[in-house]
Formats: sequence, C-alpha cells, structure tokens
Amino acid sequence: AKRDGRNGLRFYAPEMQKHSERALSLATALKNAIASQELALAFQPQMDISHRRMIGAEALLRWRHPERGFVSPAEFIPLAEQNGLIVSIGWWVIDRVLEQLVALRAAGRDNISIAVNVSAAQLVQPDFVTELQARVHASGVPAQAIDIELTESVAMVNPEDTGEKMAALSAAGFRISIDDFGTGYSSMSYLKRFAIDKIKIDKSFVDEVTHKHEDKTIVNAIIHMARSLGMRTIAEGVETEEQFETLRRKGCDAIQGYWYSRPLLGEDFSAFVRAHT
Ligand code: C2E
Ligand code: CA
Ligand code: CA
Ligand code: CA
Repeated sequence: AKRDGRNGLRFYAPEMQKHSERALSLATALKNAIASQELALAFQPQMDISHRRMIGAEALLRWRHPERGFVSPAEFIPLAEQNGLIVSIGWWVIDRVLEQLVALRAAGRDNISIAVNVSAAQLVQPDFVTELQARVHASGVPAQAIDIELTESVAMVNPEDTGEKMAALSAAGFRISIDDFGTGYSSMSYLKRFAIDKIKIDKSFVDEVTHKHEDKTIVNAIIHMARSLGMRTIAEGVETEEQFETLRRKGCDAIQGYWYSRPLLGEDFSAFVRAHT
C-alpha cells in the first residue's frame, strides 16, 4: 500500500504543483485587479414570490484577468480571503453597491435593496462596522437598503465577536441574511442569539425540491422555522418555473436564480430594473 501511495504521489505531484502555481499567480495578479480596473460588479435580481415583483439584487464580483479571461469568484475569493486582499476588495464592492443604490434611488427605485457578501476576514476587522456606517452615511443611502450576507461559518469563527458585530449592524439599520443556509457545519443556536432578518435557502436544496422527498422536507422545515422565528426566507439557484411554484406553495418569501435572471452587468441591470419595477 505504501508503494502505491508513493506512486500515487509521484503521479499527482505535477498536477498539484500546477494547481498551486495557478493559485499563486492568480493571487499575485489579483493585487493589481482593482487598480487595473479588471473587477466589475454584477447584480442578480431577487423577486418577491407572491407579487412577482423585483425587490432587490445580490452584488456578485466578476474578475476579468487580462490573459486568462473571466476567473470564477469561487476560485479567487478564497485566495483573496487567504492573503487578506478581500478586505480592500470588499470596500471596493461596498462603494460600487452604494453607487448603484444612489443611481436606483435617483431613478425613483427606492424600494430595491442590495445584498452584499461579506467574508469572515472582513467582518473581523475591528473597524468594519464603523467604516461601513461612515461610507453609507456619506452616500446618503439608508442602511435599510443594504442586506449583509454572512455564511454560517462566519457566525462560527468567533461567535462572541460576530454576535457583537451583528448586533451593531442591526442596530445601525442594516439587514442581515444567512447565506447558503443548511450547508454549514454549525449549531443552530446562533439563530436566536444573532439579529438575523433573512435565511437564504441553499441551491443544493432547491435543485431537487420539486421531486426529492428529503429536500422537500428540509425546505419545509427551514421555512417553518424561519417563520416562527420571525425571519424571511429567500431561495437561491431557482432555475425553473416548477421550482418557483413549489417554493411559492411552501410559503417561501422570495427567490433568486437563473429562472428570473442571471447576474447582470452595467446597463443590462439598469434595463432589467426599468422593465421590472
Ligand atoms: P453565493 O453567495 O452563494 O452566490 C450565489 C452564486 O450562485 C453566484 O455564483 C451566482 O451567480 C450563482 N447562481 C445564481 N443563480 C443561479 C442559478 O439559478 N443556477 C446556478 N447554477 N447558479 C446560480 P458566483 O457569482 O460565481 O459567486 C460564487 C461565490 O463567490 C458566491 O456564492 C460568494 O460566496 C462569492 N462571492 C461573489 N461575490 C462576492 C463578493 O463581492 N464578496 C465575497 N466575500 N464573496 C463573493
Ligand atoms: Ca451570497
Ligand atoms: Ca448563497
Ligand atoms: Ca450557495
């Protein structure tokens, strides 16, 4: 078995090296991405289930590397979290979100909120809440228009610090959503301790919610639990009308997914807003 292991290692080593070389070179290139204007923010519309109206959007980063083309955030966000770049990238995202909210409000769309993904590495910065408040205040946008998306893992990194930050964000008027709900490795006790407004039902439960017994049961349980705790629910990754209908019947409040719209850049998002509000 040992010999197999060595052979295996010899066989896989070049692949692993290639992988880490790519990660290293991407991490280096990412340092210039803001200055070189390679980052863009896409917005994916969110829809209220019962009125079928646009209620908000999630801001999603896009990175166009000069040679490699589009690199998925699923690949570069973890790198940015490891080397700390996520902090400055995160502020860049916040500023673009505020610009978008200012434009939406100038166009009379003041009921639209924008959800922003915030990593643990951002939230643990001691000045995160005060800096966020300062930027939001300077923009003139009310905190209520911003929905902070945190994953369950964020809530578990340092529960005490996270709890204080969430309470401060909530007191300042920001909305808080738990992203990818149900996929994290955590105790649910944080749900009652932290000031949570909304639960995002992970795509992995939505995919087969129309026909798989286990997923139906889990989605029902999440919706009922959220309701009895006074929280709203939004399902992510909704790709078909059948999924939409199933979620509507179960009492989910909102959806986000390719069925309604893909994440949109620039003028495509503005046009979507004009057509759907
Ligand atoms: P997430 O927060 O769970 O975002 C949802 C992901 O699902 C997005 O992938 C979105 O494009 C994709 N998606 C939405 N609807 C559908 C659908 O109907 N079908 C399918 N197959 N996919 C759908 P994306 O844009 O590649 O982002 C991946 C992850 O990168 C995000 O997952 C989030 O964790 C992270 N991320 C993206 N932007 C930011 C950011 O500004 N800051 C931080 N910290 N993380 C970000
Ligand atoms: Ca998210
Ligand atoms: Ca998500
Ligand atoms: Ca997800």
